[in-house]
Order: sequence, then structure tokens, then C-alpha cells
Amino acid sequence: MSDFDLLIRGHPNDIGISAGIFVEVGPNLRGSATEEVDATSLAIFPGVIDSHVHFNEPGRTDWEGFTSGSGAAALGGTTTVFDMPLNSHPPTINGAAFDAKREAAEQSSFVDFGLWGGMLPDNLDQLPVLRDRGVVGLKAFMCNSGIDDFPYVDLGTLKQGMRIAAELDLLVAVHAESQETTERLTRRKIAEGKTNVADFLESRPIEAELDAIRAAIDIAAESRCRLHVVHVSSGLGVELVANARSRGVDVTCETCPHYLLLTEADMAAIGPTAKCAPPLRAAAEQMALRDRISDITTIGSDHSPSPPEMKRSENFFEVWGGISSCQHLLALVHSCGLDPNRIHEMTSANVADRFGIRQKGGITIGKDADLALLDPNERVTITADRLNYRHKQTPYTGRSLPRIVRTILRGQTIAADGKVSARPTGKLVRPNRS
Ligand code: ZN
Repeated sequence: MSDFDLLIRGHPNDIGISAGIFVEVGPNLRGSATEEVDATSLAIFPGVIDSHVHFNEPGRTDWEGFTSGSGAAALGGTTTVFDMPLNSHPPTINGAAFDAKREAAEQSSFVDFGLWGGMLPDNLDQLPVLRDRGVVGLKAFMCNSGIDDFPYVDLGTLKQGMRIAAELDLLVAVHAESQETTERLTRRKIAEGKTNVADFLESRPIEAELDAIRAAIDIAAESRCRLHVVHVSSGLGVELVANARSRGVDVTCETCPHYLLLTEADMAAIGPTAKCAPPLRAAAEQMALRDRISDITTIGSDHSPSPPEMKRSENFFEVWGGISSCQHLLALVHSCGLDPNRIHEMTSANVADRFGIRQKGGITIGKDADLALLDPNERVTITADRLNYRHKQTPYTGRSLPRIVRTILRGQTIAADGKVSARPTGKLVRPNRS
């Protein structure tokens, strides 16, 4: 019998893995191994935990599904995803819907998965059930979600819901854009027949995001609920969160690669595949966001695909909003030129910490042996035929990114050399509650 199932030769440390967990980490490990991988010239990251994907299963597998979505994630160095409660049908807003999604994911996910629950105006009585099922948190929209069976919460409902969530020790994530502002501006544009990219951008200004973040922070402070503001697009938004945290409010935030790498000029140039909400911002705002990176806790892809027909319309307001990017999360973050330690924190350690997933989030003895090996010296150009998504569309086509060489989940290689190489073995992860 070997000392290790898998031994990764790295620099400066080697990594010994047995029975799916890290068992030894240090320079020049001795002992026999069933398999040995030379990673001395590679960058070694803990497997990425992408806390924000929309795989749309069950119910809308024609949009994506766990098979293609989780395969894409695996190709990109992601070993765990947290799937959002909307876009699947039924949405994950009660126990039965949670069970249906869990079953679908257990059958076809190549990566481990956590499931978000939804907070809607009419499901607050279901929050304890969702907590007991093991949701990683609750997602609420402060403006229209674009999905009819996932209505937004008004501030009164959000307050009520966050009080319940605080009692249940559940984290609440908000899509923070003011319904009042976005609805008013959208109505005006459409009434005037102004429906191009610039009009869409003007209908969702940064102020709409800031108003919603302020309101959510006030409620978090009052209810003592843990708050995570997802996909913050502006430096001022991050600043609000950081200031509240320094006052003792339990609030963190997430951003996405597109806010760091694409601007509103790209939205205009690329068109529908680059539509998202909050929208991409001007270059100066992007600089402000990058300047605030040390105050951002997590980075998620917000992978949100749709069939190509929904990405085609003369009216930009009618185009489905969502960027496909889960296959390149780590490579995109790496291409931002961040310190490797900051990448490790934002893509893995901080996620595990914030969501209470104790068995993941670092290359530490006893944790799940989840790894992403990236070659910083070899680049790959993103082309449609290399995308594992159901629909081969992403705003990053043509971009050259560092190559992800191998992805390891609990000691097993799940993707290598651009191919998903294993049967689906993903398991549910849930927060550890003390
Ligand atoms: Zn999302």
C-alpha cells in the first residue's frame, strides 16, 4: 500500500493526499504514492468555490443544466459551486424544490455543490425548512429578477425576512438595485422608444445600486442578520459595505470578473452576450472598483446563460441579462494581476469562511483535497468550440488566458488538459453550524 493516493510535487511545498483529503503538506515529502504529479512549474490554488452560478436545473436545462455547467466549472479549476435559487423551475423556495434540485445535481454534477434558497414575499414561513435542508444562504432581489416566479422583496418584506434569517443564523445575499429607480427609468426609456445599449445603461445608474446597498445595510444593522451584497459593480458600493463593516455591521460583498475586466464600452461593442445587471460601468468606475479590491470578500462568476434566441433583440431591454463565465473564473481573476494570496482568499478561503464550509477553502491538512493547477506560462485563447456550456456564448471570446492544467476534487482528477475526465461525483455541501 502507498503512503499517498496522490502526491503533488510543487514549489515550495509538496502536497500529499489520501482518501480524498490533504494529509501532508511540506517541502520534499517522502513516501510512496499511487500517482505522482509534477506541478513544480505550475501555480497551485485551492479548488475554486464559485458561490454564484445559475445552472437552471431542474426545469430549464435548455438554458444550461448541471452536466454542461458543472463540466465547464471543472475545466476552469472550480471544485464547488453554489447554485442560485432562481431560473430553475421550480425555484428553490421550499423543501420540495430543494430536494428536486439536490437530486438533479447529485445525478449530474461534476463538482461539489451548495444550494441557495430564495427569499420571496410569500415564502417566509419556508425559511426554517430551507435552513434545515442545508441551504448556504438566502437570496433576495431588491428589484425585478427577470423571472416571473421569483418576485422581488420590498423593504418591509426584506426586514421581516432578515429578522427571521438572523434567528436562523442564515446569511442573506441581496441583488442590490433600487426597484423604485430602475422601474421608473426603464418605464421612461421604453415610453420614449429609447431601447439601445446606452439607454439600458442609463436606466440602471450606480445611484440605484448605492440606494439599495444602503437600505440593505440599514436592515442588516437593525436585524443583526449576516448580509452579503452580491455582484457589486462600483467602488462606491464596496465603500458603503466597508464603512458599515467598520461600524460593526456583519456585511461583506462579492464582485464578478466582468466588473473588473469589462466596461460599458465593451457592453456596447460586444452586445447582448455582455448584458448583465447591475450593468457594466465606465472605465473610471472600474478603476475605483479595482482600487477597493482589498475590501471585497468574494468573487463569483454569476454565470447566467440563456438560449441564444433570448440574446437576440433589437430592444436591448428585452435581451436576457446574464454573462456566461464559470469556465474561466480562476483564469480571469488571475489575469487581473492580483497577488496569488488575494486570489486564494477571494476564490476559496473567504468563501468557505463566510459560508461556514469548514471542510473546504484551503490547502490544509484535514480539508477536502480540492485543487486547481494553473500554468502561468502557457496561454489559451477562448473560442466558442472550447466552451463546455450548452450555449457557446461568452463575452470573453478571443481573450487569451492562462491555462488550467488540472482540477482535483477530493483527491480525484475531474478535469485535465481541457477535458472533463470523470463521471459526475459532486456532493452536496452545507454550512457547518456550531
Ligand atoms: Zn446571479
